Amino acid sequence: MKQFKKVLALVLAAVLAVVTFAGCGAKSSNKLLMATNASFPPYEFKGDSGEIEGIDAEIAAAIAAKLGKELEIVDTEFGSIIGGVQSGKYDMGMAGMTVNEERKQSVNFSDTYAIGVQSIIVPEGSDIQTADDLEGKQIGVQQDTTGHIYAEDDYGQENVTPYKTGNDAVQALVSGKVDAVIIDNEPAKSYIAVNAGLKILDTAYAEEEYAICVAKENTELLDQINTALAELKADGTVDNIIAKYIPA
Ligand code: GLN
Repeated sequence: MKQFKKVLALVLAAVLAVVTFAGCGAKSSNKLLMATNASFPPYEFKGDSGEIEGIDAEIAAAIAAKLGKELEIVDTEFGSIIGGVQSGKYDMGMAGMTVNEERKQSVNFSDTYAIGVQSIIVPEGSDIQTADDLEGKQIGVQQDTTGHIYAEDDYGQENVTPYKTGNDAVQALVSGKVDAVIIDNEPAKSYIAVNAGLKILDTAYAEEEYAICVAKENTELLDQINTALAELKADGTVDNIIAKYIPA
């Protein structure tokens, strides 16, 4: 009997070791792969070290920690985030991404974590004073963004030039290739802070909500993200992260 117990103990120990080992293996590949476009300060931008920093990066890190996953952020064009999430190339997209009906056809969105407002940037001294004055002017936008969609709807495709990044659109404004840029308000503030001679018009062009996108079939991850977000909102983490980058 004693002998039997000893054997049983050994077998149990061996089984436990295998289970533990398998568990470890799964955990080390337990990544949360996030796609973003790191040209959208203060939500995502490349810091001095070349690492992607910002509000989205920090909220994503807090969500990943709650999920027991390791966050990896991939920088890609804004317009390829949704397709990549849909095809399973990325687990989620987080890029100051506005929730809209068209995108909802392709992906699911988490609960909202921030508000965005579309702003109009013009050179100081420009004769453009309101959104109405944009009629017939050349407008620069970041390709595939809501600013791009609204600008074409309101002012005609022939008056809108899409650029790969928000920064490219702003540089086109600085060099006089376009008369105005329509872009989300916080990136707009970041861009005029580092480009002399530009200002933001005092008219909010459109209000929107930002959320994380996940593949339609990945409802388990969506639920996990929403639960984590709710906790991070309730304990003040989300507010603190936003306040760190957007001083009141
Ligand atoms: N909020 C805008 C959109 O979702 C812009 C996002 C971005 O450029 N990263 O289209």
